[in-house]
Order: sequence, then structure tokens, then C-alpha cells
Amino acid sequence: MALIIEVLPNIFMVKVPLPWPSPGAVNSYIIRAKKPLVIDTGFNAEICYAALLGAMNKIGVDYREADYFITHFHVDHIGLVGKLTKNIYIGDEDAKILQNGFFKPNILKFFIMNGFSQRDLEAIMRFRSSVNLKGVNFQPVKDGEILEYGDYMLRAISTPGHTPGHMCLYDEKRRILFSGDHILFNITPSIFYWKDHDSLSEYLNSLEKIYYLNANRAFPGHGDFHEGVNERILELKRHHNKRLEEIIGALRGGAKTAWQLASHITWNISYNEWSELSPIQKWFIINEVVTHLLHLERRGVITKEIRHGIFYYELR
Ligand SMILES: [Zn+2]
Repeated sequence: MALIIEVLPNIFMVKVPLPWPSPGAVNSYIIRAKKPLVIDTGFNAEICYAALLGAMNKIGVDYREADYFITHFHVDHIGLVGKLTKNIYIGDEDAKILQNGFFKPNILKFFIMNGFSQRDLEAIMRFRSSVNLKGVNFQPVKDGEILEYGDYMLRAISTPGHTPGHMCLYDEKRRILFSGDHILFNITPSIFYWKDHDSLSEYLNSLEKIYYLNANRAFPGHGDFHEGVNERILELKRHHNKRLEEIIGALRGGAKTAWQLASHITWNISYNEWSELSPIQKWFIINEVVTHLLHLERRGVITKEIRHGIFYYELR
């Protein structure tokens, strides 16, 4: 049975176990009301399905009666939803991406040109295809829209960065934030590449947006819920500044590829050789590096050129 905590009257946090070690669980939040709401669901795996359904039974919410809001399109949040409903609420930008498909040829080419291997890319695509959203209808949610469930009035806040359409939900009266993967406390949210977006700038702006809410407490997509939201925001900003400095420092030694730069950055995973890392871990790493590089490029700090089909980055 999944761990269930009633974090506020009629709001339950359910730790849905994930079929891999890190992060080992995703938090699903259930608002028990005449019309219940489920925020995020888990991966498309039996272990998640059994845990969430068991928790809903225990809480007294019929999964067929509930509405489903998904903070962003990542597989550990959205994967299971197709088994529970045919109608989901999700940020409008993420809805568009889900409808149009992820891995367009130009995106794949971009990663290959950044030194990511074809084999790892194929593993990522297979992983993504485990999500079955056939027949699911996406109800795009816009920034500022209010969703009302029981005593809770939740304002959707667009927080792009982790994904282009990531959304948080905020209850102004209680100053509580369902932060999805925008703000996490036990781990640092990854920033993902998306076409011509400067995802890191978007992420930092989204942090700023949340900072001004002065939220009391955040209920994140992974790990523990927390007070001290603004302190965490400042920490996350410092983290990304440090990462940018590490990249600039490494480039002082000459032009490098994204994959070469990755070994100059401090990661909070332990490994001796790149080959020990799983394709997913490498995927997180390459996304983190290229989004920081893109950010530096946009700010005019670095330039890139193509040598033998691979991007080399260097200081201006
Ligand atoms: Zn995520």
C-alpha cells in the first residue's frame, strides 16, 4: 500500500512508487470533494496503477468520478492517466506538444550533433512510447485559469522551464502551491531542451514568478512537502549560476562539445565512467548541458560552430 498523508483537510498526498530507483516515487495529490481532483498519476506500470487505485479506494474517491490535472508531460506524471480517464487537464503548451509528437527529426538531429549517441536516443524514444494516451482528450489549461474543487480554489500558474507547458496550481487563501517538478526540495529539477526555447531563462523567470507569490508551503511532484519555498527558489537560482560558471570555466580551456563539457560539471549522481550511466541519466545530463549552453549563447557569452557534424562551443 502506498504511503498516504492527509496534508490539509481533504487533500491527500499519495507516494506512488516508480519502477526505478531515483526518484523512487512520484507524489499524486488527491482532493476529496463532490467532484474530486487528482494531480499527477505515476508511470504506466502495474505497480503505480495498484498503488494509486488502492489509495483512492482508501481515501474514498472513485477514480471514474475524478478530474485529472497533470502538471507536465513527463512519463512519471502522465504515464498512468490513460488507464484512469479519457479527459485530462494540462498546460496548453504541453497539450500542444503531446498532440504534435515529441521526437521530430530536427530535435533528434540536435541531440546527435551534441554528441548524444543514436543508441541512447533510441532507448529514450522507447521509454517515451510506454505512455499510452490513445483516445485521451487534452483540456488545455491557460495561465490564470481557476480550478475549483471542494473548498479549494486553485489558480493555474504557467511555469515553463522543466517542460514548456509546466503548470503549478496555487491556492491563494492558504498560500499553498502544488509545484509539480518546477520546485523540488530533495533533488534539483532538471531543465529540458525544447526547440528554440531558452529553457533555462524560462525556468529562472518561472522561479521569479513563484517567488512573488510568497507561498507558505509547496507540495512537489517528488520528495517531501516543504515550507521555505522562497529560500528554496534562491538556492535553485544559485545552483544554476554555479553550473553556468562551471561551463564558462571549462570553456576557458578551449572549445568543447556538450558531451565533453558534461564531465566538467558537478552532478549529484555518483559514477566513475560515463558508460556506467543509464540512457535516462545521460538524457538528463545532456539536456541540462545543452539548455545551459543555449542560455549562454543567447546572452552572447559563447558561440558554436559545426566541426565534422558536431557542435563545438567556445567563449566569444
Ligand atoms: Zn518532470
